[in-house]
Amino acid sequence: MEALETDPSVAWWDVTWNPVRGCSRTSTGCNHCFAARYAERWRGVAGHPYERGFDPRPVPEKLDEPFRWASSKKVLVASISDLFHEDLPDEFVRRVLEVMRLASWHHFFVLTKRPDRMHRLVRRHYGDEPLGNVWLGVSAEDRKHARSRITKLNGTPAVHRFLCLEPLIADPGELDLRAVDWVVLGGESGPGARTLEPEWARSVRQQCRAARVPFFFKQWGGARHGASGRELDGKTHDRLPALRQRAVPSREERLRRREVFADAIGTETRQR
Ligand code: SF4
Repeated sequence: MEALETDPSVAWWDVTWNPVRGCSRTSTGCNHCFAARYAERWRGVAGHPYERGFDPRPVPEKLDEPFRWASSKKVLVASISDLFHEDLPDEFVRRVLEVMRLASWHHFFVLTKRPDRMHRLVRRHYGDEPLGNVWLGVSAEDRKHARSRITKLNGTPAVHRFLCLEPLIADPGELDLRAVDWVVLGGESGPGARTLEPEWARSVRQQCRAARVPFFFKQWGGARHGASGRELDGKTHDRLPALRQRAVPSREERLRRREVFADAIGTETRQR
């Protein structure tokens, strides 16, 4: 993941950071991926960022962007892709994880439909010392995928975990929320949108209440994006996770960390 098409008024993040572009479908939740539709429109248009359509690829020039943001931000990582797509080189994903470590004044939210690869690469890079400023999440569209992806997420070393049920296209059933710190739920938007049934949303809300997990209801979705609103039983549900304030280092220190990162990349490149 994670192609999140969103009305800016319900975006729960401050900025998006896209050091990778493109993806490919991995389960039924991807069938109407808006990012795929958008990117493929530009295939073959020389000079456009999506000149290569939705083919997954690293975007090295975006790597150091978080070092330039001088205030602490909620950063949604790879909002139109999946950082753990199998075609993205391990080495590049490792660099993205390293930026999140060094730019410690931000809160990074990483959402995937490929939790096996996330598990492997996060474990290899951070070891058994997960970072307090990194939220790892899985998205799931139905019971089968919720079950398997949450299990893998729970087994991945992380300080914070979250679950995104968007687009939810079937009853997700009973969710194991014991290690989950936040749940986002939403319906599908755009042409051919599949229906989100109110009972599924109520069931998830109830499970979140019982497990004391904050619940964010993003939208009903529908063929006309945003037309069906975002109230569930007459009210909005906008709970966000409580985030600990992150200390912002001095400008000199931020520049130093950026240089450390650039030097590390330069050394790796020279060693090849
Ligand atoms: S994983 Fe996310 S970005 Fe990739 S195809 Fe599926 S919905 Fe689109």
